[in-house]
Amino acid sequence: MTRSVFAHVDGVLHAERVSAVSLAERFGTPLYVYSRAALTAAWQAYAGACAGRRASVHVAVKANSNLAVLNVFARMNAGFDIVSGGELARVLAAGGKAENTVFSGIGKSAAEMRDALVAGVKCFNVESIPELDRLNEVAGAIGKRAPVSLRVNPDVDAKTHPYISTGLKSNKFGVAFDDARATYRAAAAMPHLEVVGIDCHIGSQITEVSPYLDAVDRLLELVEQIEADGVKIRHIDVGGGLGITYDDETPPEIDVFVRTVLDRIDARGHGHRDVYFEPGRSLVGNAGILLTRVEFLKPGIEKNFLIVDAAMNDLARPAMYNAYHSIEPVVARSAPKQVYDVVGPVCESGDWLGRERELAAEPGDLLAIRSAGAYGFVMSSNYNTRPRAAEVMVDGDTVHLIRAREEVTQLFAGESRLPD
Ligand SMILES: *Cc1c(COP(=O)(O)O)cnc(C)c1O
Repeated sequence: MTRSVFAHVDGVLHAERVSAVSLAERFGTPLYVYSRAALTAAWQAYAGACAGRRASVHVAVKANSNLAVLNVFARMNAGFDIVSGGELARVLAAGGKAENTVFSGIGKSAAEMRDALVAGVKCFNVESIPELDRLNEVAGAIGKRAPVSLRVNPDVDAKTHPYISTGLKSNKFGVAFDDARATYRAAAAMPHLEVVGIDCHIGSQITEVSPYLDAVDRLLELVEQIEADGVKIRHIDVGGGLGITYDDETPPEIDVFVRTVLDRIDARGHGHRDVYFEPGRSLVGNAGILLTRVEFLKPGIEKNFLIVDAAMNDLARPAMYNAYHSIEPVVARSAPKQVYDVVGPVCESGDWLGRERELAAEPGDLLAIRSAGAYGFVMSSNYNTRPRAAEVMVDGDTVHLIRAREEVTQLFAGESRLPD
C-alpha cells in the first residue's frame, strides 16, 4: 500500500510527485528519502482501526527518530514509545507530549528515570525487580509516584529472525511469565510506584497475527491472577513488531491486525481495558528509500560486484541481520541484466546491501534501496569516517531537507590531539 508512493513515472522513480533523479542531484547521495503521505497513511491505518475503541498507538521512536518524522506523527496526536532519555528529548523537541509517551527498555539509568518522571511520562515499562527498586527510589527522592507496567515475557514464538525475536524464554527481555505474578505483588508494595498496566513485545517483522493472539491470551490469563491479588491493571500493551513487505512477505494489513487483536481482547471479556500498540517498522519502513549512485562495476570470476556509494554504515540491516532490501534502478535501462552483489566502499566483506541481484547498471546510475524507512538511518554510523547521509522528506511536490549531510570535520570535532 505505502509502497506505491515510490513509483516509476515515465521511466523515472518518483517519491510522491518528485523525481528521484532531481533529489539526488540537489542533495547528493547516499540520500534517505521519506514520504509524508506514506507516513500519514500508515498512521491512519492504525488510528482508524482504533477509532471508537479504548486503544491508543505509541510510535516506536527507535525505528526512525528524525524530528520531522516524529513531528508528522505528533501533529496527528500520536503517542510515542521510547527506549532512552535521548529519545525522550527527541519526542519533546518534535512536538510530542510526555504524557502520551511510554518508556521501554531493559537498562534505564537513574538519570533517565528522573528526567522522564519530571517530564511526566505516561508509563514506565519495567523489566526486572532491580529496575522496580531503582525506579521506586528515584521517584521517592523527588516526591513522585511512577506509573509502571511490567514487560512480561509470554514465551511465544513470533516466528521471526532470532535476532529480532524477543518473546521467548531464552531471551534477555521481560519478566519471565512464571515470575510475573510475584513481581506484580512486589511492585504493588513499593510506596512510590503505581501499577497501571501490563506489556509485552514479542519480536519484530512478525508476519502473522497468531503469535499476538497467543501473547494476548497469556497476558489476559495473568491479568486475572494479578487482579485476584488485588492489583488493578488498567491497560494492556501488546507492543510492536508487525512486519512489512520487503520482498514477498505477506503480513496482515495494519487495520486487520489491530481489529483482530482488539476483538480477541473483547471476546475474552477484557474490552473495558485500554489497549496500547507500539508499532515502529510498520509505520515507517515502507515510507522511506535510500538513494545511492553506482561508482564502479567490478566483474569477477565467481561474482560480479556493483560498487555503490552507500555502505553498511548507512544501512546496516543486510550486514547485521542478513536482511533483504529490494534494489532497483531509478531510471530503467534496456541493456541486458547481469547478476551482481551490490556492495559499498567500507573495508569489510560484510559490507553488502544486496546479493545476487539481476540489474542493468552503469557507473553513475542511481539505484533505490527500498523499505529503508525503519532501522535505516537510525542505525547508521561513521565507520570508516564516513559522514552520515542526508535525509529529506517529500510532501506532494515539495521537498524538505530534514537532516543535513554530515561534514567530515564534524566527525572529529569532539576529539583532540595529545598536548605537545
Ligand atoms: C523495537 C520496539 C518496538 C517497535 O518494534 P517494531 O518491530 O519496529 O514495530 C516496540 N516496542 C518495544 C518495546 C520495542 O523495543
